[in-house]
Amino acid sequence: MSDNKTEKMGFEAEVSRLLHMMVHSVYSDREIFLRELISNASDACDKLRYASLTDDSLKTDGEDFGISIVVDGEAKTITLSDNGIGMDREDLIENLGTIARSGTANFVDKLTGDSKKDVQMIGQFGVGFYSVFMVADKVTVTTKKAGDDKAWVWTSTGEGSFEIGEAEKDSQGTDIVLHMKEDADEFLEEYRLKTIITTYSDHIAVPISLLVKPAPAKDGEDTPEAPEAKVVNEGSAIWARPKSEITDEQYTEFYRHVGHAYDEPAHRLHYSVEGMQEYTVLLFVPTKKPMDLFDPARKNRVKLYVKRVFISDDSADILPGWLRFMRGIVDSQDLPLNVSREMLQNNPVVSRMSKAITKKILADFEKMAEKEPEKFEAIWAEFGGVIKEGIYEDFERRDQLLKLARFKSTGVEGWTSLSDYVSRMKDKQSKIFYITGTDEAALRKSPQLEGFAARGIEVLIMADAVDDFWLQATPDFEGKGFSSITKGASDLDEISETEDKKDKEEKATDSQMTTLITLMKEVLGDKVSDVRASNRLTSTACCLVASDSGMDMAMERILQAHNQLDQMTAKVLEINPSHALVRKLAEKAAEKGAVDNLADPVWLIFDQARILEGEPLDDAAEFARRMSNTMEAGLA
Ligand code: ADP
Repeated sequence: MSDNKTEKMGFEAEVSRLLHMMVHSVYSDREIFLRELISNASDACDKLRYASLTDDSLKTDGEDFGISIVVDGEAKTITLSDNGIGMDREDLIENLGTIARSGTANFVDKLTGDSKKDVQMIGQFGVGFYSVFMVADKVTVTTKKAGDDKAWVWTSTGEGSFEIGEAEKDSQGTDIVLHMKEDADEFLEEYRLKTIITTYSDHIAVPISLLVKPAPAKDGEDTPEAPEAKVVNEGSAIWARPKSEITDEQYTEFYRHVGHAYDEPAHRLHYSVEGMQEYTVLLFVPTKKPMDLFDPARKNRVKLYVKRVFISDDSADILPGWLRFMRGIVDSQDLPLNVSREMLQNNPVVSRMSKAITKKILADFEKMAEKEPEKFEAIWAEFGGVIKEGIYEDFERRDQLLKLARFKSTGVEGWTSLSDYVSRMKDKQSKIFYITGTDEAALRKSPQLEGFAARGIEVLIMADAVDDFWLQATPDFEGKGFSSITKGASDLDEISETEDKKDKEEKATDSQMTTLITLMKEVLGDKVSDVRASNRLTSTACCLVASDSGMDMAMERILQAHNQLDQMTAKVLEINPSHALVRKLAEKAAEKGAVDNLADPVWLIFDQARILEGEPLDDAAEFARRMSNTMEAGLA
């Protein structure tokens, strides 16, 4: 295109896919492009305000940060300008050429190519700057980074590539010109734009001015007077306003802006503290898991402000890692304005504030759990897996978190607390029984549960990865220990007898079982650490459990998945003396030549137990051979 200083560059592949979708979008809420641009412009002002606190050379005209929107109906353009931090060439390529946010990359991975389905996802994910291509067929970004001499211009039609070159611009900041599509005229109208800004961006703390240029005079008419730009937003920090003056919609839009979120907040907490420490808190619990929730960095996303000035959104430990799903702001009156990000690490003011806020959040959750259990359970269902990290990380709050925690259980529909579980325990039951794994539905089918079900003993179903960790570190809940039902011997008859009489009558005798068990140990050798009769089982023939002193099986699996454990250790094979197959084997175990004759069925029982645990077979070919032989013999 133009001069030789202009360079053409391709978008990163994911961006191209995203843009393709934007360009051809039929999404009905196209107006969100404006929210995205205003949100970015406001962030840019926040960044410069912060940078200028510590770098005198970046001093701007004090409080004069602002965003202006100018509409030219004749040229069909919208120009959005800010006097924030601006971007240099590298920033432009990185920010407007690749996908930086992990959440957005995730979104692109989910694109199906079916435009209807993809478009529905926009609302769920939001896609920042790139959403401009829903309404514009050409976009020019002219920008100058604060402190730099050079300005740059980025241009694209959203089709595969962009151009970047040097530009002229006097002051720092960014001007974005949207050349609107034919079918996007509605966004050139003053009333429409005003409504969009007040709906989505009223909480933005810098003034947003709007100017719609009048149509040029027709022949014979006077040239219309140029109107003045009008500020259309409230322009003050939302958290500093009285609660009674803030609508739910305004809270929601602020949450979306501050949390880069697209859902509704499930809950909010807005309060100020005065006295020894002074600060204001406006925090939200999302409805849905944020994309970066399980990032290894476990970063806190709460923004820290000092006296309304944005300081940091990732370096301060305002909340503990196990509350990292919370979004929002904390505005401190006590920290010095020129606090550097490094100074925020291990800062006593921040840690005192963090403690107090964490306490308040927990108190709030406790109240909700009691007064609005359904609301709390919905939050727990989404974030309980993260909050439980606190049980082993935050020793001081362990008991409080254990009380707050909710679990799935074989005893009740929905969720239960540990206190409620304990209140339902059998008279002679001294332990809280649980099973851990990765999938609730699969866990509910575990054979190890059968004996508990038959005796009416309740078992907690724990399907979060974190469960194995906190359980290891937590000896008891109010004096009741935790006991895995897939580990160690269980003497369930001591707690409660099974009601099924038939089971008892049709059982292999003790001496038959002893003979069979000796035979099985001989056949299986070191593949098992022990073989024993089970009272955990009713309808299944066999199951595997970890030995008393061994590690629980779910934990071994986690360690193996993380390459911390080469091989699973040998397990205890438990067999069900009431099961028809076991009874038959027990009858035959005393016969001559039994070790040879029963070897195949014994191995098959062992393999069956492994399959039930989701373990791979050691030797699939052997398994198939034994299976065929045994079936053939059965059919003969
Ligand atoms: P997000 O805002 O969610 O990070 P965007 O796609 O909207 O994603 O923007 C990408 C990045 O581009 C921003 O994070 C910011 O660094 C940069 N950016 C966008 N608009 C501006 C602007 N007006 N001024 C300075 N930087 C900007």
